Amino acid sequence: ENAAPSHFIRNIIKADLEADTHKGRVHTRFPPEPNGYLHMGHAKSICLNFGMAEEFSGKCNLRFDDTNPEKESTEYVNAIKEDVRWLGFDWGDREFYASDYFEKLHDFAVELIRGGKAYVCSLSAEETRSYRGTLTEAGKNSPYRDRSVEENLDLFARMRAGEFDEGSHVLRLKIDMASPNFLMRDPTIYRIRKVHHHRTGDAWCIYPMYDFTHCISDALEGITHSICTLEFENNREIYDWVLDNIDAPARPRQYEFARLNLSSTVLSKRKLIQLVNEGHVHGWDDPRMPTLSGLRRRGVPAAALRDFCERIGVAKKDSTVDLALFEYCVRDHLNASAPRRMGVLDPVKLVITNYPEGEVEWLDAVNHPGDPAFGSRKVPFSRELWIEREDFMEDPPKKFFRLSPGREVRLRFAYFVTCEEIVKDPDTGEVVEIRAVYDPETLGGNAPDGRKVKATIHWVSQSHALEAEARLYDRLFTQEDPDDMPEGKSFLDALNPDSLVQKKAFLEPAMAESLPGDVFQLERVGYFAVDPDSQRERPVLNRTVTLRDSWAK
Ligand code: ATP
Ligand code: MG
Ligand code: MG
Repeated sequence: ENAAPSHFIRNIIKADLEADTHKGRVHTRFPPEPNGYLHMGHAKSICLNFGMAEEFSGKCNLRFDDTNPEKESTEYVNAIKEDVRWLGFDWGDREFYASDYFEKLHDFAVELIRGGKAYVCSLSAEETRSYRGTLTEAGKNSPYRDRSVEENLDLFARMRAGEFDEGSHVLRLKIDMASPNFLMRDPTIYRIRKVHHHRTGDAWCIYPMYDFTHCISDALEGITHSICTLEFENNREIYDWVLDNIDAPARPRQYEFARLNLSSTVLSKRKLIQLVNEGHVHGWDDPRMPTLSGLRRRGVPAAALRDFCERIGVAKKDSTVDLALFEYCVRDHLNASAPRRMGVLDPVKLVITNYPEGEVEWLDAVNHPGDPAFGSRKVPFSRELWIEREDFMEDPPKKFFRLSPGREVRLRFAYFVTCEEIVKDPDTGEVVEIRAVYDPETLGGNAPDGRKVKATIHWVSQSHALEAEARLYDRLFTQEDPDDMPEGKSFLDALNPDSLVQKKAFLEPAMAESLPGDVFQLERVGYFAVDPDSQRERPVLNRTVTLRDSWAK
């Protein structure tokens, strides 16, 4: 079970349990904002939060951090739940919404006002910026900082009642305009936004800010370890300040870990939304997207993604993980779990001239060469087959052992065949047909006289072939770091124009029985998932991953 290397979060939890810091409890949360679909970065956070709770017999909440109504929606809430479940985690009845705490958050804000620790500020956004100071220079106190408690209570009540326009007033914490931590210079905790919220409707026109909401939500839920990414390191001071200055029902602690960055990938909802909205991909679940729904459609097993999250570890310093490691995990899982089939992606005709016309043999084919539990199936063999164009060369170099004039190879599960003749298109010179003879004594793959062949190739019987659409995916971006483009370029300039190549493929007939979501290895070709776009007798296959690492190193 615990073969993975330990990490600092685990060590902190262990130490807390030993010191009895949280009365022996471990309670984490995964707090997505429902403003987009989950991506691989979120998977890292989900695996960490749910994983730690599981490991220490604790609990993990799913909490929607829904305080920015204009960007959030129920569609996103539902997609997030489906994705967390798919990844293999269960929050039970612990589904929470920051918006359910609006009334309580408001009451805590009033408590802070009463204690002289928060005030209504009426500076414009621009004035607020100029009062904030710089990194080297302290800020200046807002002229509204010394408003009386009564005036603040009155103004805040009228903000809530909708008397004021957006931007006319905000509620700020009275902390320290000279703090070396910018975020501590009287942060705004409420602003007026006259927009509809997907859960609270029009009940509110003031909405709390992240720094105020998050720590209090954690405390209300009895969270012990509030794990977030490194960008929030400076926010920890506000987190602690707020909880130290209200009558908090519990005292959670915030810990920061390094976010997942992946080569040739963008992991930012803002950018992923742009890819969807501008039509660079076909939707959130486009199999090229690093979203969980995209990976699922592509055929990535949830277990492979969990395994990947385990392998990359949890660090305190940012780094970039090579996408090749993820592909390795996917191959590793699919190698064990995917049944084998035969399919030809770039077909050329192979005619067995000495095989009787009209005859069909149904040959035994094992579904998994390494695991007899997968059983076997029958594949039809006949006189006219499709083979892969790249498995034939008219004039082969030294190391090419597959089919060429005069050369004998093995047809997988069938016979040895020897190429005797080729037919070319008279106009283009392209090989359109390969003519071969078979040796009836070699059924099953061996010759009684002991002669050897150096290659085995796959094939599909032409008259039985199921025509399919194969969607071959490559990385979505050509640059290692699309987030770091040269001056004047954006991540969109790094899009790979060949990230999707569609091909007509021929499959063995057993594939007709597959269902959307099924994943197979097409022998020698790659792993493929059956797409929901499939129709009866016309499957659509997504290439999940190639068989070998095709990455230029
Ligand atoms: P994005 O930057 O893509 O908008 P976000 O952090 O704003 O992501 P949230 O919905 O707020 O998105 O994230 C929910 C949780 O997932 C947070 O705790 C956040 O820290 C974590 N998370 C988001 N991106 C990553 C990542 N790349 N690696 C690890 N954790 C992440
Ligand atoms: Mg966030
Ligand atoms: Mg964000």
